[in-house]
Amino acid sequence: MSTSVASGMPRRLRGRLSALPTMPLDILFEIFSYLPPGDLVQLARVTKPFRQVLLSRSQSALLWTQSYELVPDVPPCPEDMSEPAWAHLLFGGSYCYTCGTKPVNKIMFLFRRRACKNCIKKHMYQIHALPFTFDQWESELLYCIPVFIGEIKSYGVGRFWWDSDVEALRHDLDALLARRDGDRGDAYRQDLSGLADSMGILLKTKQEHVGLCEGWEDARIGDRSVEIMEIKEQRFDE
Ligand SMILES: [Zn+2]
Repeated sequence: MSTSVASGMPRRLRGRLSALPTMPLDILFEIFSYLPPGDLVQLARVTKPFRQVLLSRSQSALLWTQSYELVPDVPPCPEDMSEPAWAHLLFGGSYCYTCGTKPVNKIMFLFRRRACKNCIKKHMYQIHALPFTFDQWESELLYCIPVFIGEIKSYGVGRFWWDSDVEALRHDLDALLARRDGDRGDAYRQDLSGLADSMGILLKTKQEHVGLCEGWEDARIGDRSVEIMEIKEQRFDE
């Protein structure tokens, strides 16, 4: 068992888990099929074989489907993510995906990540400061990838893009441009227009899903504060 992960677990849970790696795979799958996604995420961290099995689409797709069915209020896994990656985002721990800083409770659903304030400042750019260049026609596509509209401290209010999303877009456009031998003429502009249509549809679907996720997160934070209040009241009563 990985001591670094196990050491962060309650002693009782560590004791129970210690027998798991010695069990046959079919028994393990039977046990895993009763676990919600958050527990599967924790288990994937326990040993390398668990991780390999739980992250393998071919071996565990059904298992994850069953796991999500146990918690019907959890927002469904979006098409652009795998079930384990989705579970990791929701339940994998409140830390920044880029630097590991804790706690980062708020999930940036549209960007599929958690990010601390420093990384938001470091990786989010307004259009005039983007680290990649786009011509007039290409820049239309920036409105078809995730963009945050709001305030970032010290930058003010505006539209902000995450650098790796912009880099991926630049990469896709370069591939498209290469197919036109670098010619930015009508054919390339038509390519851009077709791409904008399909990406726009995807972004709209993503935004609708984000609305669902934020509702779920708000309800969850509400539940948690009620739980904390109940614990406090209980302590007061004791
Ligand atoms: Zn960070």
